[in-house]
Amino acid sequence: MNPFSLPHRRNARDYPILLSQALSLGLSLGGTVLGAQEPGGGNAKVQADGGSVSGKSLGSGGSATESMHAVQPAVPDRFQILPIHSIQCGGIFDDRLRKQMAFGCDAPTLAAMVDIYRKQPGVFCIAYFWGAATRAMCHYYRYAKDERVLSLIRDTTAEMMGIQEADGCLSAYKRAGEGKKQPFDSDLFDRAYTMLGFLSAYEVLGDSKLLEAATRLADYTCNQVGPAPKISRNDVMSGSIIEPMGMLYLATGQQRYLDFVRHMIGKGEIGACLQDARQGKDIRDFTAAKAYELQACFEGLAVYYRGNGDEQLKQNLVHVLDSIRRTETTIIGSGCGVGPGPYRSGCAPETYAHAGLFQTIPTIEGIESCSAARWMGYCRQMLLLTGDSTIGDLYERCLYNALLGSIHPNGQKNDYFTWLNGVRGTRGWGYKFETNKYFTCCFFNIADAFAVTPSLAVMSSEGGPVVNLFLSSTARVPLSGSNEVVIEQTTDYPRTGEVQISVRPSQPAQFPIRVRIPAWSRNTSVTVNGTSAEAKPGTYLCLDRPWKSGDQITLTLDMRCRLERSPEGSPAVADGFRALVRGPVVLARDRRLGEDFKQPAEILADSHGCVALTAVKPAIPGALMQFSVPTADGGHFPVVDFATSGNTYDATSERVTWIPRTLEAMKSAQAMKAKK
Ligand SMILES: [Zn+2]
Repeated sequence: MNPFSLPHRRNARDYPILLSQALSLGLSLGGTVLGAQEPGGGNAKVQADGGSVSGKSLGSGGSATESMHAVQPAVPDRFQILPIHSIQCGGIFDDRLRKQMAFGCDAPTLAAMVDIYRKQPGVFCIAYFWGAATRAMCHYYRYAKDERVLSLIRDTTAEMMGIQEADGCLSAYKRAGEGKKQPFDSDLFDRAYTMLGFLSAYEVLGDSKLLEAATRLADYTCNQVGPAPKISRNDVMSGSIIEPMGMLYLATGQQRYLDFVRHMIGKGEIGACLQDARQGKDIRDFTAAKAYELQACFEGLAVYYRGNGDEQLKQNLVHVLDSIRRTETTIIGSGCGVGPGPYRSGCAPETYAHAGLFQTIPTIEGIESCSAARWMGYCRQMLLLTGDSTIGDLYERCLYNALLGSIHPNGQKNDYFTWLNGVRGTRGWGYKFETNKYFTCCFFNIADAFAVTPSLAVMSSEGGPVVNLFLSSTARVPLSGSNEVVIEQTTDYPRTGEVQISVRPSQPAQFPIRVRIPAWSRNTSVTVNGTSAEAKPGTYLCLDRPWKSGDQITLTLDMRCRLERSPEGSPAVADGFRALVRGPVVLARDRRLGEDFKQPAEILADSHGCVALTAVKPAIPGALMQFSVPTADGGHFPVVDFATSGNTYDATSERVTWIPRTLEAMKSAQAMKAKK
């Protein structure tokens, strides 16, 4: 038997005790002083400036080579993320991400964010920004190896640790006196991000002081929040703190963090939502239904699940994913607001309300762009846990449309709400910091979602690579022993469906390569060195065979444009509209391509529901793609990719995604809009 064909699982189970090594720096946790070694031993990489960068993974998904877990996760992930600096990507994501990081992250802005904790102004969610920015910088650094950002991470976390009070407190709210006091929902929400900032920096820098800062804030919180006589916090907004608490359990093995989460989810709003999930309710009908908070809470519960392995909880997690997929996901891949309710929140456009079913006739035009980032975060966790390729499809749809379509091409502004039809705008809840830069809550969430995307693009499973996203990229994937394989993708996807994957193991070996075959790609052609392999839509194609350097996988995806309708369960009036999707990309009309952009059109499709588009040289600068769409009456009209549509942010580029088929449908949409 070829020794390379043995299944080789490299995940946290192979490295069960590394984090106790990490905690080894004489650091005292829960009264126990742990031993004394460098975290991760010889794996730390030495940078040009002599500083150590560890690049490990903690709670955010098992790493393929290194783990900072003190305890074995109760359940191993199906997929593992690659070590730091393993993948380079080109293209539009890289461009938007770098622009966001250049604008959003500089020393004065970060200093102003830290200053919030000194001043304790007691303003809603204002302390969230530091943690969100720091986490985004860390994820960005894991990918981009940008020394400027690495210095910012070092400096800003050092400054934050410098102002942490003796008992661990870091809060924008005072303990006593005038105004709202610690601890309550937005205070805990802020603290969640503060801890995530420290923990993300710990993953990158491996400096145990960062873990210590997170544990001290967690312990301070555990002393305030819990069973009587402590204060109970069981609302979904506070539930954002479940993620860092779950990570801390895995990092330290300290039972008190699991106990904290168990208390939080045992009753109140979160407990009721879990009960709703157990009863199979639609997410719209959950006790709390604000999209961002609910997703962040369940993202945390996925991390907690790694710690406790409760099968019932996993079923709840899967139910939540499927419920959002079925009734809340709009054509652009994310969704909230939009539908008729009922709303159990003051923020209707940010609440689940059957957005998927009512997307053609919005009574409230919502879809907060933050909710796309958190939905992708949840999909990422669930992909790691389950290895279900259709979750990769969900992620990709959201990435190309909701996420890319909610960022200004200059990377400095975001759409706060993403409209399917209408004029784009950037106004929304946020803060202007002393450096005169205004950030909505969405800014660093979206930057972070871009920054973690390379880590999802290529992963590892059972000793071989998993190709999730088709991006022009080069990834190094660890194999058995000291072997590794370079996976180089050459493609201009999603402009075309041609993907060349060059496989270059250091030494010839047998291992599996998994390639996501999107469910929408009905006829996919795959060859390995010219020999065909059968590819089934909505699965991973697993090519388990001997590989040598220079082997080629050629993938041709089915890029026929699909004419789509509002999903099953939509009101009858929705049948008056159609939308166009090609590969993962939604196509939309834009006023710049013709003043008749709102006019009804019966689009010509074949018996498979496919539309024969004609590619056109884009008339809009920077457009990813433009096509001419045939109509039943022999005419045609132009469309561009959704992300390009509307990107002047004024009426000159008003967009239409759901195209009315008849004059009646067009009028009904206008009437619904007028009624709002
Ligand atoms: Zn937001």
